[in-house]
Amino acid sequence: MKNNDVVQLLNEMAVLLEIQGTDKFKPKAYSRAARSIASLGEDIEAIAARGELTGIPGVGKSLADKIDAYLKTGSINQLEQLRKEIPVKVRELDAIPGVGPMTMKLLYENLGITDLESLEKAVKEGQLKGLKGIGQKTVDQISEGIQLARAGFGRTLLANAFPIVEGIQASLREIQGVRKITIAGSFRRRKETIGDIDVLVVTDEAEQLMNAFVHLEGVADVLAHGPTKSSVRLASGIQVDVRVLPADSYGAGLQYFTGSIDHNVHVRTIAQKRGLRLSEYGLYRGDEQVAGREEDAIYSAVGLDYIEPELREDKGEIEAAQHHELPKLIELKHIRGDLHTHTDKSDGANSIEEMLDAAARKSYEYYCISDHTKSLTIARGMTEEQILASISEIDEFNSSGRWKMRVLKGAEVDILSNGNLDISDEVLQQLDVVTASVHSKMKDTKEAITDRVCAAIQNRHVDILGHPTGRLLLKRSEYEVDLERVFETARASGVIMELNSHPERLDLNDGNLRAAKRYGLKIAINTDAHRIGELDNMQFGVFQARRGWLEAKDVINTYPLKEMIKLLRK
Ligand SMILES: [Zn+2]
Ligand SMILES: [Zn+2]
Repeated sequence: MKNNDVVQLLNEMAVLLEIQGTDKFKPKAYSRAARSIASLGEDIEAIAARGELTGIPGVGKSLADKIDAYLKTGSINQLEQLRKEIPVKVRELDAIPGVGPMTMKLLYENLGITDLESLEKAVKEGQLKGLKGIGQKTVDQISEGIQLARAGFGRTLLANAFPIVEGIQASLREIQGVRKITIAGSFRRRKETIGDIDVLVVTDEAEQLMNAFVHLEGVADVLAHGPTKSSVRLASGIQVDVRVLPADSYGAGLQYFTGSIDHNVHVRTIAQKRGLRLSEYGLYRGDEQVAGREEDAIYSAVGLDYIEPELREDKGEIEAAQHHELPKLIELKHIRGDLHTHTDKSDGANSIEEMLDAAARKSYEYYCISDHTKSLTIARGMTEEQILASISEIDEFNSSGRWKMRVLKGAEVDILSNGNLDISDEVLQQLDVVTASVHSKMKDTKEAITDRVCAAIQNRHVDILGHPTGRLLLKRSEYEVDLERVFETARASGVIMELNSHPERLDLNDGNLRAAKRYGLKIAINTDAHRIGELDNMQFGVFQARRGWLEAKDVINTYPLKEMIKLLRK
């Protein structure tokens, strides 16, 4: 789907037009069109093929022509023209949290800043101070944003890589002679953000495969084109490498290109101690190949149990594999329900009924509605009265028998700055599942936030601490919080830690999950879905749980309803 590309191009045009300043209305029109295309549930090319682009809210005839031109030729004349006129690298600056269109305009006009590097230099030299509308707080925010952007530079959220990878796999599979395709690298290890995409192929017709690959739809640049290795950059900016491997080396190549580097170095050392040599072509004793065709045979030949890709970070998995102590990792099929979801009663997009229908299609045993509460006004949080009304509505749903699963009554309650909750105990005690979350004052000191969270989870009605570190991948760092103290308090109060499955959150992260488990805490893997489609994000939570060494028994929503409820009640 090219929807994302079109959104980015329109946003870029909006910013460039804003800087150009000749038309006051056009930039807003472009941003509006970009927003409605971003929320389309359908492939924009299909809409264009039907000639219905002007049916998209905010897309008029002239904009539709430009989108058509892009879909057919890969470029828009007016945009190329604007780029020549105004050298601001909009996409690069846009990746910096805290830098929006108006800031870009200000920075370009006053300081000639066009990209990340010139912005970083200006911040370091204190040039931003004194610019109209830019105070010290904004400078700090931009400075932190630059660090985040640098760290995330060239990285893609795992969830955004999925459709790209699926497209590549589907196209390559159709090519004659192809026998096997696997995606290796950080994608296979299910890291939360990934760099390049590494594709491994066994084929009888390498030349044909490589020719097809460098001409795939969406390829913007061919970086290398050879018989065993080719690399391209897609229009979305992501680099894809394809390697053709001999069938006898497939397992070794898979092991090698899955990484991580630290994991591989450690495995190779173990092989050496056994008088073996491990490379991307196989495991050898002298000239003789001991293993290579199958990946698991390589592990067993060096005395290791098979190690799942998600664990390959050299963080103890190799020692555990030597002692047959690897965890039996959780799988998506173990999940019996979702305990944190929203509806249009707060800031969700779908009604309760729509969400329940979608959840029922997943054959869940239970499902909790947990809308925001009143102090989160931006999300139209619910008052006590509204929560009580929703409780009776859910009671009726349950007695109606319309859904086989049990609908649980919940709320995502705000943790106020003094550690109190924004809903009375009297109402909270009528709910099945209370999730407490921090949504405000995330810049407080570590001590203040830790105090706040610890106070909140000591409320005996709180069952789950929602997204415990508040981070948004590639956008916002974790707030400062002493997790050890939080875990300690949670253990004493019998509170569950959330693993929020939203692809931007994945919060707790892998290391924190392992720490929580060491504290004896249980985890709830929840989607925090705000629309039907986001219920599918459960898989990303499960990937992250696997990276955190979790087994089904560590996760409360793998238990049958009765046992799950018991685990919630302290
Ligand atoms: Zn939340
Ligand atoms: Zn939520």
